[in-house]
Amino acid sequence: MISVTEALSQLFALVTPLEAETVPLQDASGRVLRQDAVARRDQPPFTASAMDGYAVAGDTAPGTSFEVIGEAAAGHAFDGAVGAGQAVRIFTGAPAPQGTTRIVIQEDVTRDGDTITVQDAPDTATYLRPRGGDFAIGTRLEAPRRLSPTDIALLAAMNVPRVQVTRKPRVALISTGDELVMPGGTPAPDQIIVSNTFGLKAMIDALGAEARILPIARDTRSSLRAVFDLARGADLIVTIGGASVGDHDLVGAVAAEMGMDRSFYKVAMRPGKPLMAGRLGNAAMVGLPGNPVSAMVCGQVFLRPMIDGYLGLPLAPVATRPARLAVDLPAGSPREHYMRAVLDGDRITPLSRQDSSLLTVLSQANALLVQPPRSPAMPAGTEVRCIPF
Ligand code: AMP
Ligand code: MG
Repeated sequence: MISVTEALSQLFALVTPLEAETVPLQDASGRVLRQDAVARRDQPPFTASAMDGYAVAGDTAPGTSFEVIGEAAAGHAFDGAVGAGQAVRIFTGAPAPQGTTRIVIQEDVTRDGDTITVQDAPDTATYLRPRGGDFAIGTRLEAPRRLSPTDIALLAAMNVPRVQVTRKPRVALISTGDELVMPGGTPAPDQIIVSNTFGLKAMIDALGAEARILPIARDTRSSLRAVFDLARGADLIVTIGGASVGDHDLVGAVAAEMGMDRSFYKVAMRPGKPLMAGRLGNAAMVGLPGNPVSAMVCGQVFLRPMIDGYLGLPLAPVATRPARLAVDLPAGSPREHYMRAVLDGDRITPLSRQDSSLLTVLSQANALLVQPPRSPAMPAGTEVRCIPF
């Protein structure tokens, strides 16, 4: 049995970044940028007004008057300059005319015909947004980076209509077991519904990969082999279940027959001990345990960083953050324990039922409390590490 850290480093050895492709900006959210994007203009491209009011030059003490000589609106610049004693009616987003020293907001003046007079206690901000104040031509959004909706807005403002992103990793998900029926199907009395396969697909797709749910493999060599054949073309093949040492656990044997070069089998963790991995043709293969919570936890701990690696992001374990135990925690086992827990601010409470089949418990949890192997009992208040999700 190897440690989680060792398992991760062996998994990372199976992963290389995939090639890049060009996509239009409207399809780029959640994708990983592979080439720096460079601003093709200054933003704002001119000194702009931040408010509705008057662009003026010079002193704006209460009682000062200005003659209004024109108007500037967004998309309609004033063709001229403001000099001493002059003002230009201006609206948010309009270019400030040459000579403008500040915008006096409309609430701070009284207007009589073409004359405005500054009232008592005017606001003192200039309300000018300088040219290039947001970004200047040449500003870079650096790769690699998973693009957020905000990044998309920034790229659009930079006038970057297409970006180079990593192609989506293709992940094939193989459920195994005679007891399994697809959601919506009609289970026999001794059958259950496939669950974690769908949870894993949701997790993998949210990371920017493309998971395909293959037909359920039955607990026979021929059925498993047939479904493995359907996984051809995938970058990552993930099997679920059938990885223990029971009579019906055939994944390891069939994968070996099909030429899998095994990296490891069994990891010192709870849940998720019967985890296997290796190389199968051009793909990496990961065999996850079948218990729903085990599969989802292993997805968080192992598949998430692998997918980041395929996408060209740095190869690194999932980030943990500190939290303080809200309750006493008994001593741990020799295996690293990923406890389903509720994180509230910086206080973390492990849920009372930790059986690896309980999806309701996982769904109540918003973090995994990572209890290192052989950790001593810890009183409430002790700092621990956790993986929020
Ligand atoms: P196994 O690893 O095949 O021994 O499966 C362990 C447990 O997980 C058994 O109770 C299975 O019925 C269950 N299981 C296996 N695969 C799935 C799946 N895709 N969805 C839900 N439960 C599963
Ligand atoms: Mg099984």
